[in-house]
Amino acid sequence: MTGIIEFFKNLPKKKCAKCGNAMVNEKADCYGNICDDCDYPGR
Ligand SMILES: [Zn+2]
Repeated sequence: MTGIIEFFKNLPKKKCAKCGNAMVNEKADCYGNICDDCDYPGR
């Protein structure tokens, strides 16, 4: 089943919905599309 792998490879890079930076660490979509920087408002 290589079709699934190709599908994920062709997905565009995620961008942070707040700052617009490309997200290096993709994580579960618990917060939608927010990068680590925006995920820690205290810093
Ligand atoms: Zn961000």
